[in-house]
Amino acid sequence: MNSPGAPALEFRDIAKHYGETSAVGGVSLTIPHGQFVALVGASGSGKSTLLKTVNRLVEPTSGEVLFEGDDVTGLPLPALRRRIGYVFQSIGLFPHMSVAENIAIGPRLAGERLSRQRVGELLELVELEPDMADRMPDELSGGQRQRVGVARALAGDPHLLLMDEPLGALDPVTRDALGERIRGLHRELGLTTIMVTHDMAEALLLAERVLVMDAGAIVADEQPAALVAGKGGEVAQALVAVPRHQSERLAELSR
Ligand code: ADP
Repeated sequence: MNSPGAPALEFRDIAKHYGETSAVGGVSLTIPHGQFVALVGASGSGKSTLLKTVNRLVEPTSGEVLFEGDDVTGLPLPALRRRIGYVFQSIGLFPHMSVAENIAIGPRLAGERLSRQRVGELLELVELEPDMADRMPDELSGGQRQRVGVARALAGDPHLLLMDEPLGALDPVTRDALGERIRGLHRELGLTTIMVTHDMAEALLLAERVLVMDAGAIVADEQPAALVAGKGGEVAQALVAVPRHQSERLAELSR
């Protein structure tokens, strides 16, 4: 099924309109295997819409998305979503299902059973105890729930991990710890990762490539060091200014 040598992901002139609103206005982009990409921008700039065209939660108005060389519209949905891990912003665990059942839901929809041992391994990947498998979501902290969300996204052994504001609902300490774990998993499992965030500091610290979106277009495509050095244009620099001012003020306090 895969085309040898194809990039992990290719967007070809993707546009999405909702009535009069243009959410995404003709984005073309190639993401090689193994890259950790952050998609950053203000609320409403089109980040989630673009991300969701990959696993077909959004059908684009025009253009195509190729996943490992295959047009995603030509792949059966369960198979496509099995090959692509997805972490929701709102965490989105099913409250009436145990942790183990939540983790196993993707494979189950694709007609497979996940062994108890595999659930335990997935929990260990996100630094949770295997005996958490029998707990219900409301018995977990927000950070633990989102760790389960990440374990669920990895249950189908995906090559590609899509994350929509995965750390947005978490306190700063938990956020930092889970961000680091996600970066570790990306490396250890050889994933290609795209993380949507409105937080430029998070993008700069976690990703190796930062795409900045504004009004449905990608307006900057830079490495973190280049953004910190002042590249990427006005919109990107306005976002970089926020963590820069914070770190300057912290540096002043320590003088
Ligand atoms: P972001 O993820 O950057 O916050 P979104 O992709 O969610 O931005 O939204 C981009 C634009 O598309 C916004 O103007 C938003 O209101 C609009 N939009 C997104 N989803 C829908 C929808 N299902 N129906 C109508 N408009 C939508």
